[in-house]
Amino acid sequence: MTTEVFADREVWFLTGSQGLYGDEVLGQVAEQSRVVCAALDAAQEVPVRVVARPVLTDAGAIRAVMLAANAEDACVGVVAWMHTFSPAKMWIAGLDALRKPLLHLHTQANVELPWARIDMDFMNLNQAAHGDREFGFVQTRLGLDRTTVAGHVSDPRVTQRVGTWTRAALGRAELSRMRVARFGDNMREVAVTEGDKVEAELRWGVSVNTHGVNDLVEVVDAVPDKEVDVLVEEYADRYQIAAELLPDGARHDSLRYAARVEAGLRAFLAEGGFAAFTTNFEDLGGLRQLPGLAVQRLMADGYGFGGEGDWKTSVMLRTLKVVAAGLPGGTSFMEDYTYHLVPGQELILGAHMLEVCPSIAAGTPRVEVHPLGIGNREDPVRLVFDAAPGDGIVLGTSDLGDRFRFVANDIHVVPPLHDLPHLPVARAVWRPEPDLATSAEAWLTAGGPHHTVLSTALTADHLHTLADMTGTELVHIDPHTTVRRLRQELRWAAAYHRLAQGL
Ligand code: MN
Repeated sequence: MTTEVFADREVWFLTGSQGLYGDEVLGQVAEQSRVVCAALDAAQEVPVRVVARPVLTDAGAIRAVMLAANAEDACVGVVAWMHTFSPAKMWIAGLDALRKPLLHLHTQANVELPWARIDMDFMNLNQAAHGDREFGFVQTRLGLDRTTVAGHVSDPRVTQRVGTWTRAALGRAELSRMRVARFGDNMREVAVTEGDKVEAELRWGVSVNTHGVNDLVEVVDAVPDKEVDVLVEEYADRYQIAAELLPDGARHDSLRYAARVEAGLRAFLAEGGFAAFTTNFEDLGGLRQLPGLAVQRLMADGYGFGGEGDWKTSVMLRTLKVVAAGLPGGTSFMEDYTYHLVPGQELILGAHMLEVCPSIAAGTPRVEVHPLGIGNREDPVRLVFDAAPGDGIVLGTSDLGDRFRFVANDIHVVPPLHDLPHLPVARAVWRPEPDLATSAEAWLTAGGPHHTVLSTALTADHLHTLADMTGTELVHIDPHTTVRRLRQELRWAAAYHRLAQGL
């Protein structure tokens, strides 16, 4: 997925000052503000435009720019820097009205102190060291959730962190307008894929609705043969096709039907403006195969997906694909399947029945057709591959009844220890931090699901920032996690999140 998905998005850069030192100083403030904003705009780590707004010196202008930020769909968040001392009571009405993510950039124009020539004029122009503390106080006094980044914009650590925040803000913006199509409901009797779709729309903005699978079947059956021809050619260009699926092979018709499902799904999703979807093998209506290849290729193009009606994972897959757009690595639907428990070598083997995204593939995927023991349909066509090694994260989403909880784990995707010649699905093998037993005990204690989003493009920093921006709890299992400590964190977090909901 490329950065084209957020080509029309931007971040606004706000600079606070005051009229105390006259127009000449304000002119210098404006010039230095433009330089800092231009440095952020030019930084490769910040994937969208950073747009400078005029220097702010009074409460009316501050409130007006915050209301404008709320109303502008292109604006995914605002960065604020109190260049000179900007008395923060002026910011109360504006900050209270702001409904977009806020990054407080604590910086200054110069790197070095000009020791030999510094005078009070320089001091008065460059006083963010205390101006930003005034601003920090008022944000905390208002109870404002924000990200604070300190340092000079020439420091790669600063632009990296601003970039991480920007990507999380792009994910939040995507969530706030996302539409999800569910073909059928959840797999019968499964608990963790259930959830409150009204709360999801209130908390995150995402709209999740069901469509009869036979409405999709109508579109699939109406796909012109020539569209199927085009897709079959594309498959041949991009993948290794099993001999039996080739045009002269005995099962070529299975590949053509998989292509027909892909074309139909694409048309249905595009027509409805859907960025994510779910399927359920128990509810396939007139579909001849469980969609495998089609789902895999749609995920690779950036669509969210969850199996067995799992809309929460589908939503987060789409969101994290947007957060990760343009970054190296891949992002996929995943399921913890089975373990390698040899002491000292413990690994998790993740896969799904069919639906793993080829953005995480090592090498060229193979297109194969094999029987599927469930679903009661024809053998489905799927891409088969191993995941490319790399550091990454997995993220699961649970509905605890009174709130959503994200559970994340730092992982290292590794090559399989041996070939897997009899496993006819795409898969990933990984080592979880801090070790399999601690990771699994912590995950189970936190009530994390078996479906996740696996990403080798993102880090836990992206997830923490996104969780903060969306008011969602995040339980993060990292190299320092102990189960005893995590149990305490869960108790504290339960108290916090219940109090934070208000009365
Ligand atoms: Mn599943």
